[in-house]
Amino acid sequence: MFLASYCDLEGRTTGAFTNSNAGSFVGDDEIALLTKVEMADDRHADTEVGYLLSALGGWVGAVVGRDSAGTQFAVVMQHGPVGAEADLSTMADQALEAVAGLIVVEHYWLDLMELVSHYMVHGAGIVEPKSLGMVPLLHGLISEMAGYEPAEYIERFPSGCAYPDRDHQCEGSVVNDVLRAWQDGQQSYRPGPEA
Ligand SMILES: [Zn+2]
Repeated sequence: MFLASYCDLEGRTTGAFTNSNAGSFVGDDEIALLTKVEMADDRHADTEVGYLLSALGGWVGAVVGRDSAGTQFAVVMQHGPVGAEADLSTMADQALEAVAGLIVVEHYWLDLMELVSHYMVHGAGIVEPKSLGMVPLLHGLISEMAGYEPAEYIERFPSGCAYPDRDHQCEGSVVNDVLRAWQDGQQSYRPGPEA
């Protein structure tokens, strides 16, 4: 699982957020900043991360979880055009300052081609992953954390539906279909990073 490996996550995912208004920079090379944070046990992780995202420019999505030692963690995703790295860092620092009690573990920079290779390795064939841009590919990583296969994500993305063969209340986007099914217990998280 890409996100688990990339950000050294283990344990289980307990929540996720997506920003359906996250813009893309078509024609520009894009870069993503992933910030991993931890928080004390008595914090309500979804609430804290919700506060953080409301203060964070350029956010794309986030996953929240709890590791096997019981520590709550979150990975928050931002993106921007290549060259805007300093702005992304500043926005992250400002938002983190605004929410007390979140401890920054690590910042990870992720470029578009690294993401594209992940999807190519996992069998995306019909749709060229690079043509989708960074936001959909980052949302695909969140879907993957909820147990949805990367190749299937790429294939379904243009249709805006994760479960064409299943009766469901369609959210109109693959990631939001997956998250809704996951919350309803119909899509299970597979813990642990890929080998
Ligand atoms: Zn659907």
